Amino acid sequence: MKTVLFSDFDGTITEQETFSLLMKEFAPEASRRIVPLLLSGEMTLRTGVPAILETIPSGRFPEMVERMRTMALRRGFPEFLEFLQQFSVPLVVLSGSLEELVMARLSPYRTKISRMVAARADLSGPFLRIVSDSAGGDELVYKAGVMKGYGKVRKIAVGDSVTDLTMAREADLVFARSLLAKRMAEEGRPFLPFESFFEISNYLESILTKEPSGE
Ligand SMILES: [Mg+2]
Repeated sequence: MKTVLFSDFDGTITEQETFSLLMKEFAPEASRRIVPLLLSGEMTLRTGVPAILETIPSGRFPEMVERMRTMALRRGFPEFLEFLQQFSVPLVVLSGSLEELVMARLSPYRTKISRMVAARADLSGPFLRIVSDSAGGDELVYKAGVMKGYGKVRKIAVGDSVTDLTMAREADLVFARSLLAKRMAEEGRPFLPFESFFEISNYLESILTKEPSGE
């Protein structure tokens, strides 16, 4: 069976939660006001994240992009991309962040990424305006919806946060760290813990080498 790997970006491919760092740095007042409402569930990600970002002047966006270029990636990521290519497993990056920010960091690896799904920033007005073609339910980017579109393939999910829970539910195999691992454990659902991409490659290698190559 064909395998597709779906990975979150912030706190998963990157070492840190870069998106929340940027929101705090570039929209400190709105973050202070809105982040507690997001955490308490009084506001959804679909409305809360744009509410924060849309207080940022469009002219500051290039600085945000520059800040992203130097953010640290999680150990083993470049090797992981090589590994996926070797086994012909496409990588789909699903991010609740902005495409321009994710690509600022991942552009050196662009050819090794099958698809990138995230929200985008429209800079035509005085302040950022957030657009998303894949919003659904409470989410700015409905990760599970994108996964469903792949039909009958073996789906592997990699994530770190509660925003990856719907993605994990849609997957046949889940690699989780941080809050996602905690929630999966609490709900008694199976997952494999990871801290570096080397652990994921090692585990997948043991599965994929047992199967005939190709589909
Ligand atoms: Mg994340």
